[in-house]
Amino acid sequence: MTQTAISPTGPYLAVTFDDHYIDDWFDAADIFRAHGARVTFYAYGFPHVPQKAITKFYGLIGQGHEIGCHTSSHINAVETAEKIGLENYVKSEIVECINGMRIFGFTPPSFSYPYSKRSAELDAAIIPYFTTIRARADTFAEAMTWEQTKPLIKSRNADLVRADGATLRTADDVVHELRLAAQGQRSMAIDAHGISDKDDAGYHHITRRGLDYILWNARRLGFVFVTASEFIGAAR
Ligand SMILES: [Zn+2]
Repeated sequence: MTQTAISPTGPYLAVTFDDHYIDDWFDAADIFRAHGARVTFYAYGFPHVPQKAITKFYGLIGQGHEIGCHTSSHINAVETAEKIGLENYVKSEIVECINGMRIFGFTPPSFSYPYSKRSAELDAAIIPYFTTIRARADTFAEAMTWEQTKPLIKSRNADLVRADGATLRTADDVVHELRLAAQGQRSMAIDAHGISDKDDAGYHHITRRGLDYILWNARRLGFVFVTASEFIGAAR
């Protein structure tokens, strides 16, 4: 597929991926490139990330993609903040995440919550560190109300295969919501995890073909791809 000129006026689409599937993400670079899509990868576990993975992250950043923070250890933010206190949570999971990434020269501009577990108190404590924070919208309607909750991005899940290999959604489910958003000239965000064609991959993922199909449709519907940190400013 060849690239076509994109509308500078939107609507905008932030395509995001969570966790630690750097091999999948790096291998999908050709799919992103084919559609002119710059996307966001929210990673956790820094600084304990193998050099091989760091090199791949550098490669993705070099292609215009964004690396965001997904906490230090991927624990439930709400439960942990209750247990150890909000301040201690921010220190160990947010500040340490940023510091761990800085060791390798990454400055994460955006953040996403593990398991999408969040609260207004957590939002308020975390947002000073980032341009945007991303959580999951439980419904399409919720994803469309992001304007009321700036700088929070509420994404719709685009994993097509569950950890146990079962189908989660179909690519057409995702495209259907993109079409509704585009018809209303509404920007939106989607989130997934790994990118694999193995239905026994053992983790939530979008198939490579499904990703290609969704990005192709997004472009055809007139979406302009932006990274998470660009999203709020662009979609305003
Ligand atoms: Zn996660």
